[in-house]
Amino acid sequence: MPGDDIKIKKRLFGESVTDQTKKGSSTLDLSLLSQPFEWKEAVTYLFCQKCGMLSEVNRQGAEYLCGQAKAQAPEVFKNVYFTSEACSLCGQDIGVRINYIN
Ligand SMILES: [Zn+2]
Repeated sequence: MPGDDIKIKKRLFGESVTDQTKKGSSTLDLSLLSQPFEWKEAVTYLFCQKCGMLSEVNRQGAEYLCGQAKAQAPEVFKNVYFTSEACSLCGQDIGVRINYIN
């Protein structure tokens, strides 16, 4: 059920994102993470803590971000999202962090 999936996502993302936003300067709008991806290739999100940009990321992008975060790419990205200290829109891609949701 799509509705149930969104509720689960909202709960999973919400708990982790709260911790993340305490560290970052920008606040992540949790309701955005609970929406279905607009891009059909998207598997996860990248949130820029500098400019507040939330980007959908496909599998290839997510694997690249794992490299940036020096983390091993998980088999599925459903319970993972990325944060960065800056992005290609507001600066260089730096400080990428992978966030695991239990
Ligand atoms: Zn940015």
